[in-house]
Amino acid sequence: MTTKPKRTTWHYTPPLPLNPSPYFQWPLNIKSIGAWVVKGWFPITERMIILGLATVASLFFQPSVAESETLALGWVVTVYARNLALMSLVAGGLHWYFYTAKKQGNERRYDARAFATANRTFTFRSQVHDNMFWTLASGVTVWTAYEVLMVWCLANGYAPQLSLPEHTLWLIVLILLIPMWESTHFFLIHRLIHSTKLYQRVHALHHRNTNVGPWSGLSMHPVEHVIYLSTILIHFVVPSTPFLLAFHLMYFTLSAATTHTGFQGIVRGGKVILPLGTFHHQLHHRYVTCNYGGLEMPIDLWTGSFHDGSDESHQAFLQKRKNQR
Ligand SMILES: [Zn+2]
Ligand SMILES: [Zn+2]
Repeated sequence: MTTKPKRTTWHYTPPLPLNPSPYFQWPLNIKSIGAWVVKGWFPITERMIILGLATVASLFFQPSVAESETLALGWVVTVYARNLALMSLVAGGLHWYFYTAKKQGNERRYDARAFATANRTFTFRSQVHDNMFWTLASGVTVWTAYEVLMVWCLANGYAPQLSLPEHTLWLIVLILLIPMWESTHFFLIHRLIHSTKLYQRVHALHHRNTNVGPWSGLSMHPVEHVIYLSTILIHFVVPSTPFLLAFHLMYFTLSAATTHTGFQGIVRGGKVILPLGTFHHQLHHRYVTCNYGGLEMPIDLWTGSFHDGSDESHQAFLQKRKNQR
């Protein structure tokens, strides 16, 4: 009798198989859709925290529309410093919690291997220093450049403005749609990058990380930052406000850190109280040619690149990879 070899390479896996969102399951199950949306936002989630940070940032560290009509060093530097502080707070805070202070040891950690040091693959020969450098030097700079461009265009009427308070409901709808948009946009640009020369020249920098930590999320080549954060250009069509622009960009940048923690989340008393880090994307970092998008939009499932983490799915993935060679 032959027994199927078990994969024991993960230190921890969440309940498998992974399931994409129920938005496109037929017949529509309103209860599951409602539960998915509630779980994605409430009570304490990375989305709520980013929404809170965007609110504080917009209230205290955002130039007024009148001020941003003219490009001036003062407000541009304020936005840049704010974004640097936010990225350092989120990625640095999570890195400190999980990897410096080791607050929960390896509990719910997907891959227990240590981060690389004395390794030529990485800038400064250190995975963490490499990731910090590309995140802060390139990621935050491109993020700020896009935000400055869009805020300036909004103030000068080159991009449509969502007038408040009469369109508050639209603002809420747009905020709720951002995760679906992120999943779609990420799949499209990521799939494109993987199937062209951009993979070796650009995206390979992100894939230096076969195991990931909070600083890995936005650790990308500058060209990839320009492509990844081009999401914000949709607001040349979809009306926005300075707050929505800030939240939209923070959702893409800060959640890159929160989805790459390498852990399922923050655990208290054996329970995850704050989900962080997606096993779905951890599979992409290890196996590369699967899971190009997120679970919010099941595009990987539709296009045959979905790896649900189960042994069956892994065997099918290995077979497909073998056939493609
Ligand atoms: Zn990644
Ligand atoms: Zn990739």
